[in-house]
Amino acid sequence: MNARSPFVISTHDLGRQPGLMRELNRAVPAPADLGTDVIAVPAGADLELALRLEAVSDGVLVTGEVTGPVRAECSRCLREIDDSVTVDISELYYYPGKRAELAKEGDEEAEDLPELVGDQLDLEPTVRDAVVLALPFRPLCRPDCAGLCPDCGVRLDDAEPGHHHEKLDPRWSALGSLLPDAGQTGPAGEREEER
Ligand SMILES: [Zn+2]
Ligand SMILES: [Zn+2]
Repeated sequence: MNARSPFVISTHDLGRQPGLMRELNRAVPAPADLGTDVIAVPAGADLELALRLEAVSDGVLVTGEVTGPVRAECSRCLREIDDSVTVDISELYYYPGKRAELAKEGDEEAEDLPELVGDQLDLEPTVRDAVVLALPFRPLCRPDCAGLCPDCGVRLDDAEPGHHHEKLDPRWSALGSLLPDAGQTGPAGEREEER
């Protein structure tokens, strides 16, 4: 445990007395890689912790909310999205030695439970798991984003209504080239396209 990490919290003042509690409200810089390639909390951005630490008989119960900004890329149209995420936290950090007791009693997952080191607990793994789980796997700029035109790549949300491309059936294309006006647009039409 890195004692200088802003996520490492002393619970000394709770004195292991069940029922004692305190509030923890602070902003901490988001750690790196809090998310995936397409959606993440930017490293160093403010994560707002609004938590309650409560001493219970087996450890310290941490509950509350974590809120932070989110930067993402729409999975359909690749537009950048600025959003935020708020997650609920509920985690029991066991007192040192408690995990070993539970393991002895046959709890095979006891080793994976969070544990206090001395009277300190590290919120980072808990916050990381909760935030990453809450982020959508395929972010969207809006629920019914129309995505990109498969033919020209333009954003369909930005394109003219009914944007589409005339496609000649290949069996008719030879015929189409025989028509005198096929594929021609006037000068005004061309300028319109370039904009
Ligand atoms: Zn989109
Ligand atoms: Zn198109």
